[in-house]
Amino acid sequence: MITITKLLIDRNRAAKARKARVYPSIKDPGTVQSLSVLPLIDFFTKTPGAKTEPGVSYLVKAGDFTVLLDVGYNAKKEHPSPLLNNMKLFGISIRDIDALFISHHHLDHLGGTAEQRSHTFSLSHGPVDFPPIPVYSPLPLTPSSFNSNPASEVRVSTGPMQLAPGVYGTGSIPRALYIMGYTEEQALAINVEGKGLVLIIGCGHQTVQRVIERAQVLFNLPIYGIIGGLHFPVHGGRIMAGPINLQAIVGSDRMPWNYINEKDVHDAIHAIKESGARLVSLSAHDSSDWAIGQFKDAFGPHYRELFVGETITV
Ligand SMILES: [Zn+2]
Ligand SMILES: [Zn+2]
Repeated sequence: MITITKLLIDRNRAAKARKARVYPSIKDPGTVQSLSVLPLIDFFTKTPGAKTEPGVSYLVKAGDFTVLLDVGYNAKKEHPSPLLNNMKLFGISIRDIDALFISHHHLDHLGGTAEQRSHTFSLSHGPVDFPPIPVYSPLPLTPSSFNSNPASEVRVSTGPMQLAPGVYGTGSIPRALYIMGYTEEQALAINVEGKGLVLIIGCGHQTVQRVIERAQVLFNLPIYGIIGGLHFPVHGGRIMAGPINLQAIVGSDRMPWNYINEKDVHDAIHAIKESGARLVSLSAHDSSDWAIGQFKDAFGPHYRELFVGETITV
């Protein structure tokens, strides 16, 4: 009962905040000549030696600017973490990264449960040579004691932010979630020369419809691609408590008995088709095999598989 009352309060707060956030369109956002996304952490891989988990960390190379989107889950608190293991395997140095972009403050994106609780992040549960780079977050984020850099500036904003010419944070979009509470989530929007905007999303709690709408308001550019998590644990999830599909229950702002369903998936597919996106890639970290199958059927040759270790070149 308490959790349902809280959901209703959070839902009201999120609706008000969404309505209040009106942003002008960005004049001359700039472009990047190339874009690639290398999933360092996600749920599936075909690469021997690569580790997987129900979390997200993507290395995004936008022209000569490299941004790391989120830092994975590290559920077992390992050092080296699955993220560090995979970075080493793929020949990626932390020093190659120009910025860290945190989509939202959930455990599978901040590097663990304790990190979520204390609003910090960690790449591994041991010392990491983290460079003095900017860290973008929709909410205040305390540098972790053991693997961030005190010289890093945490740039906190719920509004749109430019990371580099052509590379933006969309600004966060709030949504209430059952048990998980009021959630602010932002996505990356990258303007690729001659193609248009590519949206790279962490968990997708905002709903993809609202991310598309935000991108259209901000940029007035064609949407070329949508890559990442959209949270569709329908007919199966990645975090189960026995028979209970936790992701389906805690990932919605509806009543807990009315969880994320087939219609939600089909509505999202419809909205993505309407947006004109020509490259679609769905993260398996918070979506089921069934949902991925629906996306594959709907987008055919425009669908790209998302596997740890396999670069998606735009
Ligand atoms: Zn997630
Ligand atoms: Zn999340």
